[in-house]
Amino acid sequence: MIKQIDHLGIAVRSLDETVPVYEKALGLRCEHREEVPSQKVRTAFFDVGGVHLELLEPTAPESPIAKFLADRGEGIHHLAFRTDDITGQLEQAAGAGVRLINEKPFDGAAGKLVAFLHPKSTHGVLTELCASKPV
Ligand code: ZN
Repeated sequence: MIKQIDHLGIAVRSLDETVPVYEKALGLRCEHREEVPSQKVRTAFFDVGGVHLELLEPTAPESPIAKFLADRGEGIHHLAFRTDDITGQLEQAAGAGVRLINEKPFDGAAGKLVAFLHPKSTHGVLTELCASKPV
């Protein structure tokens, strides 16, 4: 079951240039930075009332974020929903005819399991499902 919007992913060319904009212009505070090798990105997180902003900077030319920046420039990249059952949620999406980018969840940022649905199947929005890892 989907619990809430977990975060919005925003593609940027440089965390060092972008983080200060969010801090100075909006008064938000960057709470966490992390490199995610599986996605070839560096991330910076802001907590906005329980929903997070995830700024994404590519660490390699073959990063999906580098490709996004080349095609579309900086901007909103994906929308992430938090669920307590990522596998069940993937099955539900597949059963509804949605194309899955990831058939199985993998390790994302902030110690979560994540999987993506293809934006062509979700009317233009790259959709992430995320869940806390079972302990
Ligand atoms: Zn994300």
